[in-house]
Amino acid sequence: MDKTILLAHGSGGKLSHELIRSLIAPGIANDLLNRMDDSAILDISGRIAFTTDSFVVNPLFFPGGDIGKLAVCGTINDLSVMGASPLYLSLSLIIEEGLPTADLEKIMHSISAMTAATGVRVVTGDTKVVNRGSADKLFINTAGIGSVPDGLNISGANAQPGDQIILSGTIGDHGVAVMAGREKLRFKIPVESDCAPLNSLTADIISFGQAIHSMRDPTRVGLATTLNEIASQSQVDVVINETSIPVKEAVNSACELLGLDPLYVANEGKLIVFAAADQAQAILNKMQQNPLGRDSAIIGEVRAKHSGHVVLKTAVGASRIIDMLSGELLPRIC
Ligand code: MG
Repeated sequence: MDKTILLAHGSGGKLSHELIRSLIAPGIANDLLNRMDDSAILDISGRIAFTTDSFVVNPLFFPGGDIGKLAVCGTINDLSVMGASPLYLSLSLIIEEGLPTADLEKIMHSISAMTAATGVRVVTGDTKVVNRGSADKLFINTAGIGSVPDGLNISGANAQPGDQIILSGTIGDHGVAVMAGREKLRFKIPVESDCAPLNSLTADIISFGQAIHSMRDPTRVGLATTLNEIASQSQVDVVINETSIPVKEAVNSACELLGLDPLYVANEGKLIVFAAADQAQAILNKMQQNPLGRDSAIIGEVRAKHSGHVVLKTAVGASRIIDMLSGELLPRIC
């Protein structure tokens, strides 16, 4: 195998076949992918969730993960927070000529580790190589399909007055880890990305059925913007308590140093749930028993139907409206 990826590896010819056979396909092989037809034929019935995402994170490798792990987890999570059980993925690689083959091998290894851990299968894919300078090392595009059980009605538009808002753990870990990787920053306590597949946690959560009104993963725009999205979609006001939002000490001090507000920093292994008040404590208890929800906390609640504002009650008892992120805080974070 060549030491770097060549344009001919994306030609569809002999070198492409060799690259796919020897490096891309082995770790993710399954009976559907192995057919190598123009499309995968899937036997699915009932309600289907369907999502797509592109991953352009810079650098490709960061503390706690890499672009491959991020691509699989990110797609699984967008299905999971809709209550879907993730089943199938597509995987499309856009590679810049000159990418070290060893890097691609490591990234494929992360992808196969995640698909093996979750049972989600890559059933179709594509590989393209573009000239040096036409892309930055590697971009990944995915699509994902999952099946949605009957009796669930989860949407950003379904938050109700009285709902309790549960956050599944600490915020800001991913954004700070990628920044540290990109700028080669060394913190006293290293920060790792929280990148993780949340399907086991959402399976626990959706066992509460119709008590789950809204669920979303606060990814690149952070917790504050995600809360604003739901408040606006549901036309409700949201109040959250600063002191109940878990933030790691190391993330807090890194954010202070970088001039960032953790409320707007990206997460890749966290979710928020808007749940009926009478079930919220039981849901929280269940989430805390899952390793991915160990630090879950009730961070606030939905107030009477109103204008879609998110209000933060600060540690000193003041209130301020927190808005959506304006502009781009940290480009190419996912
Ligand atoms: Mg999402």
